[in-house]
Amino acid sequence: MSGNEHKYINEAFETNWIAPLGPNVDEFEKEIAQYVGVNGAVAVSSGTAAIHLALLLLGVGKGDKVFCSSLTFVASANPIVYQGAEPIFIDSEPDTWNMSPQALERAFKDALKDGNLPKAVILVNLYGQSAKMEEITVICNQYGVPIIEDAAESIGAMYKGKASGTFGKFGIFSFNGNKIITTSGGGMLVSNDQEALQRARFLATQARDAAPHYQHSQIGFNYRLSNILAGIGRAQLEVLDDRITARRAVFQQYYDALSNIPGLRFMPELAETFSNRWLTALTINENETGISVIDILNALSEENIEARPVWKPLHLQPVFKERKYYSHNKNESVSETLFNNGLCLPSGSNMTDEDIKTVIHYIKQTVIKRKERVDMLRI
Ligand SMILES: *Cc1c(COP(=O)(O)O)cnc(C)c1O
Repeated sequence: MSGNEHKYINEAFETNWIAPLGPNVDEFEKEIAQYVGVNGAVAVSSGTAAIHLALLLLGVGKGDKVFCSSLTFVASANPIVYQGAEPIFIDSEPDTWNMSPQALERAFKDALKDGNLPKAVILVNLYGQSAKMEEITVICNQYGVPIIEDAAESIGAMYKGKASGTFGKFGIFSFNGNKIITTSGGGMLVSNDQEALQRARFLATQARDAAPHYQHSQIGFNYRLSNILAGIGRAQLEVLDDRITARRAVFQQYYDALSNIPGLRFMPELAETFSNRWLTALTINENETGISVIDILNALSEENIEARPVWKPLHLQPVFKERKYYSHNKNESVSETLFNNGLCLPSGSNMTDEDIKTVIHYIKQTVIKRKERVDMLRI
């Protein structure tokens, strides 16, 4: 927390706005819309709820197909299944670790052949890095299929001067506890289409008709954000730019200390993009370093330092094992390589230089120990 949260929470208490509506909700929506440069925003209870609403607004229903990035958290795809639609997973490409335009193109060609184009494309900006938006937008426009930009991890990131989350018909952000700014739980749906956003508010408030009695003509959801949590969000948004500066500094320290080790490669930042570096991620080539991701995870864990593998691609998840998948090339699955060799380091905005140095020390030690063992065996 930044310290300012209490001010907004107290306002909510003093005015008795303890509800999933109120002044903090209204202001938080305006402030987010202004920050990223869109016409409007709808504050909701989670990023997952925002994705679900976006699918509902695009009319995704039973039997429809939706293309979705494979290398992501499961929440990107779950709402597709809530709607009874079929997720089809698209691989990453190496420059951004995000959706591969050529895999997307192949998926579209097949769908066109089958006469069954997807209703939407859910595109994820992993760990704060924007996907190749230009290429992907051209392809989706060619087929007339709208994009939902899952910017849950990339709030504050930029692509060619435009904010992450504002490229698709809809964009979504998450304020879950693990994200760069948080309301403990929460999310935001953004768009330039005010009419659609108004409909999102309606669906997120149990689809209550404009009648004095409680009348409902369709099924709705209870997806609005609490006015208390929106107050936390307002204070968090005030420090988002500082958080990004801090996260990028964490990345830079790791990069300066470790990037010269052969076989370690940090997640790239595409030219003309600005990542929020939510998480510092890198790959470890076992042939070059002699160590695996597991070796580093274990070495750090022994020192009570928590690191994580990168997301397990969704096409490899047991729950999605029957689903279609388009790899980057016929014989190259980039997301699987990233999963097998990828690692996320501790990246919190509040890490001290000392914390970062400690992590660096144990990573270096793991590499050196292994090298000594190999050299000894050679002798
Ligand atoms: C966190 C996250 C979500 C879901 O957000 P919640 O607010 O936790 O529902 C969706 N997509 C991605 C890529 C995420 O990292």
